[in-house]
Amino acid sequence: MGLLSEGRPLEWSETQSHANHVRQHGIVQFIRMFREIEQRQGDVLKWGDEIEYNVIHLDPNQQVARVSLRAQELLRQLQEPELAGQSNLPSLWRPEYAAYMVEGTPGVPYGGSLDQFNTVEKNMNNRRNEVRALLLPQEKIYSMSIFPRLGCPPFTEPVAYPDPEKSFTKSLFWPNEATYQGHPRFRTLTRNIRERRGEKVAIHVPLFPDDRTNMTEDLDNGVDPAHAKAGHIYMDAMGFGMGLSCLQVTFQACHLDEAKVLYDQLTPVCPIFLALTASSPMFRGLLADVDCRWDIISAAVDDRKAEERDPSHPQYISKSRYASVSSYLSRCALKYPYNDIKLAHDPAVYEQLRQNGIDELMAKHISHIFVRDTVSLFSEKVDQDDSKDTDHFENIQSTNWQSMRFKPPPPNSNIGWRVEFRPCELQLTDFENAAMVCFVVLLTRAILSFNYNLLIPISLVDVNMKRAQKRDAVLNQKFFFRTNMTTTCEEHKDPVVEEMTLDEIVNGCPAKQYLGLLPIVQEYLKDQEIDSSTMCTLSNYWKLIKLRSTGALKTNAKFMRDFVLSHPNYGQDSKVSEKIQFDLLTHLDRVQTGEMKAPTLLADLRYVTAKAE
Ligand code: ADP
Ligand code: MG
Ligand code: MG
Ligand code: MG
Ligand code: MG
Repeated sequence: MGLLSEGRPLEWSETQSHANHVRQHGIVQFIRMFREIEQRQGDVLKWGDEIEYNVIHLDPNQQVARVSLRAQELLRQLQEPELAGQSNLPSLWRPEYAAYMVEGTPGVPYGGSLDQFNTVEKNMNNRRNEVRALLLPQEKIYSMSIFPRLGCPPFTEPVAYPDPEKSFTKSLFWPNEATYQGHPRFRTLTRNIRERRGEKVAIHVPLFPDDRTNMTEDLDNGVDPAHAKAGHIYMDAMGFGMGLSCLQVTFQACHLDEAKVLYDQLTPVCPIFLALTASSPMFRGLLADVDCRWDIISAAVDDRKAEERDPSHPQYISKSRYASVSSYLSRCALKYPYNDIKLAHDPAVYEQLRQNGIDELMAKHISHIFVRDTVSLFSEKVDQDDSKDTDHFENIQSTNWQSMRFKPPPPNSNIGWRVEFRPCELQLTDFENAAMVCFVVLLTRAILSFNYNLLIPISLVDVNMKRAQKRDAVLNQKFFFRTNMTTTCEEHKDPVVEEMTLDEIVNGCPAKQYLGLLPIVQEYLKDQEIDSSTMCTLSNYWKLIKLRSTGALKTNAKFMRDFVLSHPNYGQDSKVSEKIQFDLLTHLDRVQTGEMKAPTLLADLRYVTAKAE
């Protein structure tokens, strides 16, 4: 997760005193860098995914499951070939927030040729097997967004207990040991976010109300009523958000303008993918009344002070630093009031950017992400050479966790302008993850090649993000979406925006003369040379996406929730006990390895099994 600087992290008081210094130099660095690279042309499509795996210890004797805190040891082994200087590796490995997570990406990015879509799933499968080869006998690797009883001590292996007085979270539930210890970034961010906010983070997830659910359990158990809320699952540490896993895809554009178009066009697509990939139905051992983790991470890193969270206060900032995109960037966005939400931004920074030739929309975006203070600063990085360093820019950039991230080319590299698609929840099988990745990559090709326009007012994208997280959103929610997408930006027409089901948005709605996201991808592929094996792989992905979007197949969230609800030990009290969790994870492992069929999740679609050879 972001920049891993070397050196000694500063205390919060020192970090805070450098907030303006980091901002001022970060902006100067951005302006200098932008001037150097804005004309950069001729890069080709490259792209790659990121998967955050969980390592889990299943003890069949005790019938308990625990997150296994071995990421640091596993990474030591996983990164060996890379650190030894080997190139063209099949995968690369990075630390993540939690001590039970490892992040894997393909070793080299994919390019533009279509037969590579036949290797995505195999590469994911290979990544899984690389980890699997290093696991202890009782450990399993999962690609799932949540560990159900995260924050129900003991939930770690080895066992560690929270320390509300001395820990860097002050959490009632989260032990220091569950945060990755191999780099100071993670604990420093955690402490500084809490310090800046002036209190612990507070996460309140609506509790799934069942017949015998105690809606005031935390309060009855003595949790401070200033913190816990009736009818909600209460969590109080960064790890409850950043310790969840997701699927991300990064694309390289040909040039700056194309990167802006990709960023904008994918923004309204984010909530659609969020709903399709929903896989987070339970937190802290309780069933939630939501299916996604988005708002939970947002609250888990919300470093805003009380006044910044107060809509009546002049310093109000409407969103956490983890949030959906707040403003579009491309020229298209100037032709209609698409940017219709009040953007928290620093007017002086905006003016400085404008005076230095940065266009209006880019200046808005940068001055928006720069309303944040640094929450992680290393002593060796305070004084920088703005004529070549970019760390202060990266410092702020990498702690703005948006649904899309706009990534400028790193200086002196052969990497071009990139955008990152970040809304997806992680899926249990490589088959599903590969399907989502191939779908979004080909969607970008279709949108660019047909010159489609999916923009809607950004306030409606925010509404969709909320709706996407609701329980069974696929079945019950409608989303605002543009139906007249064939009018290009150049021949501008005002957007026609309708509320449609996920089925209609993905598969099309003839009554509204709306084509559908999957049909436009299929239309795009018709004109391409593509071998039959790749076509076969893709058509299985399209079946999955189609059946998922109609509700004929369950989301991961529904699949897991239904397992709990129908478990013989379930007491209609919303509780996911140790035994239920153990059985759920055992079941999910059988599904992910292909040992057991899961017709309600995957139908009988062929998928590469994740079984060890
Ligand atoms: P971050 O954590 O900052 O988002 P990572 O390095 O973990 O970034 O992952 C970036 C993803 O982008 C990987 O899948 C990688 O294969 C891919 N990638 C690497 N280089 C390029 C490039 N030039 N263009 C597009 N994608 C790239
Ligand atoms: Mg990550
Ligand atoms: Mg990464
Ligand atoms: Mg990252
Ligand atoms: Mg990423």
